[in-house]
Amino acid sequence: MNSRTESVAKNSLTNLPDSFYFVDSHAHIGGEEYDADRDEVIERARAAGVHTILNIGSGEPASGVFERAIDVATRYENVYAAIGVHPHDAQLFDEKIARQIEHLIRQSSRVVALGEIGLDYHYDHSPREVQREVFAAQLRLARDLALPVIIHSREADAETIEILRAEWKDSMRGGVMHCFGGSLQMAADALELNLMISFAGNVTFKNALNLREVARYVPLEQLLIETDCPYLTPVPFRGRRNEPARVVEVARQLAELKNLSIEEIGRATANNFARLFGTPLMGNEKNSKTANSALS
Ligand SMILES: [Zn+2]
Ligand SMILES: [Zn+2]
Repeated sequence: MNSRTESVAKNSLTNLPDSFYFVDSHAHIGGEEYDADRDEVIERARAAGVHTILNIGSGEPASGVFERAIDVATRYENVYAAIGVHPHDAQLFDEKIARQIEHLIRQSSRVVALGEIGLDYHYDHSPREVQREVFAAQLRLARDLALPVIIHSREADAETIEILRAEWKDSMRGGVMHCFGGSLQMAADALELNLMISFAGNVTFKNALNLREVARYVPLEQLLIETDCPYLTPVPFRGRRNEPARVVEVARQLAELKNLSIEEIGRATANNFARLFGTPLMGNEKNSKTANSALS
């Protein structure tokens, strides 16, 4: 732990400034990795200023993973859920699963997005052709349900953009390219499609020079932060299980890159999140407007 991290950790146990307000826009806290200490994980997040968490339900669709994600979002205030068939599991998607997703979304007000959906050509767990079809089908489902989407794209930049242009271009609800790892061109294309771009702990990794270049380029109004926990633990905590409190490290990195304060990154991304997903801004007026003048 370096001295900076230490002071944040210390702060989080006492009184944080009101201006500390963060959202983890992509976390998998419904998994068994957190069964033993989920209460503490969420409490630690709050103590670090991370007041809102979007819990993504992904995994084998018939295994109850969607229901579990919604259940966590129902039990904790300011935890929301997104459900959808991950590209890894695309071959398990069928009409029945589509109806199940639709039913769960209509039934619960805690589900604020469809995802994560997309293409993963790194692992190729499902045939690429199936991934493309299922991505397109779920984009159409999101349109029917008027929900924003959370997009996962790995080593599939061009085809992800191609499908989005065909199926999502004139959608009014927007979406986010989560855990961004693509090129500057990919970022430009996504921004042009009015998507937000979310950065995770990998933007802090030592060799992530290109990714930091992209992060510098993304305008503040289209920026989100996430942990993608339990994966991608940021520096200086690499090697351990990740958790939502660590999204502050992503904010710290982006603040450095953009010459802004960590509070400004937190507030801007929290505002973007509320705008995209239609959730209340817990920081309310105090954090969004008056805090600006109080700080200056
Ligand atoms: Zn993902
Ligand atoms: Zn994820």
